[in-house]
Amino acid sequence: MFEKILIANRGEIALRILRAAKELGIATVAVHSTADADAMHVKLADESVCIGPPTARDSYLNIPALLAACEITGADAIHPGYGFLSENARFAEILAEHNIAFIGPKAEHIRIMGDKIEAKRTAKRLGIPCVPGSEGGITDDQEAIKVAREIGFPVLVKAAAGGGGRGMKVAKTEADLSHALSTARSEAKAAFGDDAVYLEKYLEKPRHIEIQVLGDGQGRAIHLGERDCSLQRRHQKVWEEGPSPALNIEQRLEIGEIVAKAMRELKYIGVGTVEFLYENGKFYFIEMNTRIQVEHPVTEMITGIDLVNEQIKIAAGSPLTIEQSDVNLNGHAIECRVNAENPANFRPSPGRISYYHPPGGLGVRVDSAVYQGYSIPPHYDSLVGKLIVHGRNRNEALMRLRRTLDEFIVDGIETTLPLFRTLVRNADIQNGIYDIHWLEKFLATGGMDQE
Ligand code: ADP
Repeated sequence: MFEKILIANRGEIALRILRAAKELGIATVAVHSTADADAMHVKLADESVCIGPPTARDSYLNIPALLAACEITGADAIHPGYGFLSENARFAEILAEHNIAFIGPKAEHIRIMGDKIEAKRTAKRLGIPCVPGSEGGITDDQEAIKVAREIGFPVLVKAAAGGGGRGMKVAKTEADLSHALSTARSEAKAAFGDDAVYLEKYLEKPRHIEIQVLGDGQGRAIHLGERDCSLQRRHQKVWEEGPSPALNIEQRLEIGEIVAKAMRELKYIGVGTVEFLYENGKFYFIEMNTRIQVEHPVTEMITGIDLVNEQIKIAAGSPLTIEQSDVNLNGHAIECRVNAENPANFRPSPGRISYYHPPGGLGVRVDSAVYQGYSIPPHYDSLVGKLIVHGRNRNEALMRLRRTLDEFIVDGIETTLPLFRTLVRNADIQNGIYDIHWLEKFLATGGMDQE
């Protein structure tokens, strides 16, 4: 087992990792930028190292500074969390060259899944159902027209290096295609320095359903059910829940087993999420995230399995000790991402939290790194915390969510809590009837105007 883990992240996920490490008896090192000197993860870690100025590029993404911090503190492993360096294959290789363990998958798997064309090719080879589209990258307009005619309009132009929904353009008809290709290319070039794009059938009303997996790289891999993350704004997840209100047990087990089998074949190490769009009873692979995800607590609440604990043990070389038959999905969990933003126009609202009262009680979890008097810095994402509730069934989870949202007080800044208070009372949400466009339509048609 590792003796000391350096956590190359900040905010609630740094705290989440710190908690898992402490429970495993492993010492922790926090790193922080100058803007985060007062952050909770710094206060709670055994040691801390300042690695640079506020700009992420110079601190949380600064590989030489992280290596120096390992050297100074004697950390033998790095947990990257999510975002920042978590899906940087080169970072994983550099750590290996310095004899520091990377708590994550093999660099090779990060690289494959980081390139969406390559990821799709791999998924297809492993028997995972994919969205109909171009076999590889699309280089000229003629080829694009040919593929689009085959799969039928509307089509979606997507960036191979994509992330966060950038470099994605819909073409409703053939006349839109050339413009969609050029804008997607220039957006991709600007965002990722890579203008490779590919084509996919545009699904009109899908849900976003993702499967959580756990593998040990020794040929064992299991799935831990799904999360439904269809409630999104600008391709950012807002509300996640599991199990999905749209799936029955047979569908769940079928897609879960397809994914687990693929992971066994890949000899995948650690936690991962295989993301699908789901429409008319069919699953279509969109991407795989080779890291712990923001919404992982939904799965932890319904399985009782500590994903970060498993991730650390597997990275230290332990075989997977959980069998598929040990995974029981109990009840229902919902997560709300509470952001420091205006709940109607989503303008960021960093600043000092003058009063903070998180909710509590049975089946309630708040993953957050804020505290009363803490100032949310303007340099990073605007997550205040994640409110996760668990109930014996979906209705109980909704009832509990309503109660906890009313109890949750964050004063001094604006938060998206009012949005969730509205959503939890909405009939479509209560009935579980929503797709990936539901939230944007709701907001565009004045869903929050009365607030
Ligand atoms: P990114 O890596 O940029 O987040 P994804 O491939 O994960 O890109 O897609 C992000 C979101 O874009 C999905 O959750 C979904 O809302 C939408 N999307 C992606 N592919 C399609 C598609 N073929 N049809 C319709 N919507 C899509």
